[in-house]
Amino acid sequence: MQVPAHFEYQRATSVDHAISLLARYGPEARIVAGGHSLIPMMKLRLAQPEMLIDINDLDELGEIRVEVGDEGAELRIGAMTRHADLLGSAVAGEHYPMLHDAERMIADPLVRNRGTVGGSVCQADPSEDLSGAFTALRATAVIRGLDGERTVPVREFFTGPYQTVVGPAEILAELRVPLRPGGGSTYLKVDRRAGDWAVAAAAAALWLAPDGTVAEVGLGLTAVGAPDFTAVQAEEYLRGRPATEETFAEAGRIAAEHCSPVADQRGPVDYKRHLADELTVRALRRAAARARGGEA
Ligand SMILES: Cc1cc2nc3c(=O)[nH]c(=O)nc-3n(C[C@H](O)[C@H](O)[C@H](O)COP(=O)(O)OP(=O)(O)OC[C@H]3O[C@@H](n4cnc5c(N)ncnc54)[C@H](O)[C@@H]3O)c2cc1C
Repeated sequence: MQVPAHFEYQRATSVDHAISLLARYGPEARIVAGGHSLIPMMKLRLAQPEMLIDINDLDELGEIRVEVGDEGAELRIGAMTRHADLLGSAVAGEHYPMLHDAERMIADPLVRNRGTVGGSVCQADPSEDLSGAFTALRATAVIRGLDGERTVPVREFFTGPYQTVVGPAEILAELRVPLRPGGGSTYLKVDRRAGDWAVAAAAAALWLAPDGTVAEVGLGLTAVGAPDFTAVQAEEYLRGRPATEETFAEAGRIAAEHCSPVADQRGPVDYKRHLADELTVRALRRAAARARGGEA
């Protein structure tokens, strides 16, 4: 039986309380949200925090709502939103069906009932589905610390596998997704069996101009070693071009070219690169169909 090393435990009563505990106990303290990544790592002794700060009582971090801020209307998703709540959120699905596509394929109901949106992105596992989704949507992470609040584009949030810009005395409070009407979005994933981690996955959010060209696009790639979980060269190629099969095929090729997948038990490099290409094409095709009001 695997058991974690000895640790102390405190239950935070507010975000400020959690931050003050993090500051008091230093780098040996860790936030626990759903615990579905951290606790297994502690059991394997891959993580050995001396102090766990439980943020499960912080209802203020569990909301999904639309708000108009300095940057216009935004979908705001609290860090403690459970996967199941994002999957069940009508407002999230109405604006960005991609989020429901991704959530439907994350693990199983047991994990989705406990695991959180904030825990997923803070874990920064290269196979984490929401990292690719939020990258495609150009979300912004709201991080709170002793000095107040700062915002970081999700595209600058991940500093490496299992590493983010969140500091030792900081907490991810919220993800904000800009709302831009009229587009289509989707998330497509290949896994070895239902609920498994991705072999590869692609996210696309697409807005079309009246003449059928691509007005704006966001791409996200999961588990294929894409820099910052995205494919900026393919996005640049797409903008202003007709939203056709030929354009999407070239975008897929470009996206795959800039990936650096690693071979592991989920597949060899060539297979994953092929998936990055094919899934990008399929995601663009489906996002375009949704933008045209076709496919649900
Ligand atoms: C069997 C199984 C299958 C899974 N399959 C998938 C899958 O297919 N796709 C997928 O994407 N994920 C999958 N997951 C992961 C799942 O999505 C987890 O919920 C997620 O990785 C972590 O969320 P959590 O709330 O449990 O975080 P925790 O385990 O509590 O925390 C993870 C890390 O984030 C930090 N943290 C958490 N919240 C915050 C915060 N607000 N601010 C700062 N730091 C924070 C913690 O300190 C810790 O370092 C799977 C997990 C399991 C157990």
